[in-house]
Amino acid sequence: MQAFGHASHGDRPREAPPEGDDSAAPLRPRPVVTDLTRPFWEAAREGRLAAQRCDECGVFRHPPLPQCVHCRSARTSWVDLEPRGRVYQRTVMHERRVHGFENAVPYLCVAVQLDCAPELLFVGNIASSEPSEIRIGDPVVAVFDPLPGGLGLPQFAPIEGGEC
Ligand SMILES: [Zn+2]
Repeated sequence: MQAFGHASHGDRPREAPPEGDDSAAPLRPRPVVTDLTRPFWEAAREGRLAAQRCDECGVFRHPPLPQCVHCRSARTSWVDLEPRGRVYQRTVMHERRVHGFENAVPYLCVAVQLDCAPELLFVGNIASSEPSEIRIGDPVVAVFDPLPGGLGLPQFAPIEGGEC
């Protein structure tokens, strides 16, 4: 199964860190942009978190799908979302098996439930923090990392003070 927007093991470019490079910054596989996912990546490049919303019933969906899972309508619009939410689930990765992340361990993967669309979960990383300091329920905001090719990648950062 292929993760949303990322190359599968067979078609990703193999980019190894330079010899002696002990940088903890992951060398991420580049997203695979399709007609279906392009609005998401273009919004991220511009610092916006976007998702599909069904024109018939108003249900949000992410990752993008060709039709609504609720009413099966193919009529959809892309809308910008308020990029704040709370950590719904967290996993600290210690294994070095994920290509591009070998030197980044341990790192934190989170699923974030948005305040404005709690039916959606966005998966990403929280960088520059001690993984043990981030707990389920902590408030976070989306931040956007630049990627090669003019793309942007939504990630998350904790919000100081606990207010969303
Ligand atoms: Zn619908």
